[in-house]
Amino acid sequence: MEAIDNISRSISEFFNAYAPVNVTCALDYYYDLDKNEIAWSFLTSSDRGDELFVNFFENELGCPTLNCFLYSILHEFGHRMTLTEDMLQEHQVFMKQIADEESGDELQLKYMRMPVELVASQYAVEFAKAHYDEIADWYDDVLLPQLQALTQSPDMQAMMQLLLEGETE
Ligand SMILES: [Zn+2]
Repeated sequence: MEAIDNISRSISEFFNAYAPVNVTCALDYYYDLDKNEIAWSFLTSSDRGDELFVNFFENELGCPTLNCFLYSILHEFGHRMTLTEDMLQEHQVFMKQIADEESGDELQLKYMRMPVELVASQYAVEFAKAHYDEIADWYDDVLLPQLQALTQSPDMQAMMQLLLEGETE
């Protein structure tokens, strides 16, 4: 899909000025260490999940105000700059422990505060502070028009229709 590829290319071009990284679109945000690849998504986990994430960035970490989409990709870029094989192990062990015991808000809060996640978010916040104007301009001039084009593209309309139909079954 052209509209999706354009967004991936923009994100890649933006971050490649700082560190080489591949960018793709997926069902969720992630950073793949082996592929050195960030994934962005136009689907959100939940409104409550986004709310907790935004609150964490702005109120707990003191990130200057941007938006959930930008915090998400900055966080993945934070993984790009901080993630190691050892931390990946830590992530897997931690997930096994907390996913059994917790759910909802508690699970997400513990997830965001685990060392491997926290270090990526802290990197993202420092990056946002250092390059705030540049990020804000990039969003307004490049990303926002591309995101708007995506929501209006026929492929996207068809995809959303499929998703909505899936939900009513
Ligand atoms: Zn993460």
